[in-house]
Amino acid sequence: MTNSHAANAASEHTPVASILGIEVDALTMDESVALLRQNTLAGKRTFVVTANAEIVMMAHENKAYGDLLRHKADLVLPDGAGTVWAGNYLGYRVPERVAGYDLYLRLLKEAARHDLPVYFFGGTPGIAEAAAEEGRKRWPGLRVVGCRNGYFQAEEEEGIVEAINASGAKMLFAALGAPKQEQWLDRYADRLRPSLLMGIGGSFDVLAGKVQRAPKWMQDARLEWLYRLLKQPSRLGRMMALPKFVLAVRREKSQKK
Ligand code: UDP
Repeated sequence: MTNSHAANAASEHTPVASILGIEVDALTMDESVALLRQNTLAGKRTFVVTANAEIVMMAHENKAYGDLLRHKADLVLPDGAGTVWAGNYLGYRVPERVAGYDLYLRLLKEAARHDLPVYFFGGTPGIAEAAAEEGRKRWPGLRVVGCRNGYFQAEEEEGIVEAINASGAKMLFAALGAPKQEQWLDRYADRLRPSLLMGIGGSFDVLAGKVQRAPKWMQDARLEWLYRLLKQPSRLGRMMALPKFVLAVRREKSQKK
């Protein structure tokens, strides 16, 4: 099966896994990084969504968000154990998890190596700057050409777009949480000049050291969701999307038979 995403950032032959009406590009982390490096160096627009189970479920239940993932995103990657499980369970080959945070770090490394300027948009005041500082420490040469927090009024949005464009950034990372970050990027996609547009949720908080990621063994045991729940019990409501996702995927499989 081939990719049918609107602008088709991946090659014609990128395998896709259709999960609850969303076509997920079944790339590995290395393939994703190579493709995004190549597109950004070539100045080719690539709007990336890292789709965890919560995002796929949201897209399944909300038609406008689903249409955004189906027709506006250029690349929809399998973020999280849930999406990888669902793809494989439904009979596709989804090789591995392409977690948003890990991809973000890999892209910062590429940005430093190829001198591609980046812009950090989102998070509470000061967090993008703290993430930028940590980024520069880890990858000397990384050029973060602008930072802006993610709390704004509608009338400030024009100015934000102008600041991003004036910065000359080639990669824009928007950390406003899903679905807000994808909706914002989509709304301004035609006017934004960076080649790469990507929503990264709470990634600045993690890079800045404000929020800890689950230990590796928990990630490997597919328990990252549990770690997040224990750290932030207020996420329980959001996490109810996970059992709903599993049930919906099982239903989809039984209907396919
Ligand atoms: N955020 C923001 N503006 C908003 C709402 C949220 O900048 O209007 C930021 C928030 O500070 C946090 C991130 O978006 O850094 C969302 O984090 P969350 O853990 O919800 O995202 P996830 O990684 O789970 O998608």
